[in-house]
Amino acid sequence: MALTPQQLQELRKRILDRRRQLAVELRGDAERSREEPYGTLAGATHDSGDESVADLLADLDQAELSRDLAELRDLEAARLRLDGGSFNVCADCRAEIGYERLRANPGATRCVTCQTRYEKTHAGPGAPRL
Ligand SMILES: [Zn+2]
Repeated sequence: MALTPQQLQELRKRILDRRRQLAVELRGDAERSREEPYGTLAGATHDSGDESVADLLADLDQAELSRDLAELRDLEAARLRLDGGSFNVCADCRAEIGYERLRANPGATRCVTCQTRYEKTHAGPGAPRL
């Protein structure tokens, strides 16, 4: 079933809200890292134990940052698809993606069936291969 104009409107709003929220988070992260530059944090002490903690924190920050950036990119792509009219089409099987799924995850590019298959076939390293 095609999405109604009201549903499209609601999804667009969710995408824009989520983008704004992410942008605020990313800006906050950037400001925090300016206030506590990694260099001075690690340089303030010669204790190598503290240095490795600072390293770890910097790595964690980085991981969080790239997750947020990836989500932001997904949302931006979703917004463009929304404008292009192919927003709710599964990238793999071209079936329509349900409204409820898009509401929960506006950046979704696949229907539930294809997403489940994708996650099975693209499991992380260490997953058993048959
Ligand atoms: Zn599909």
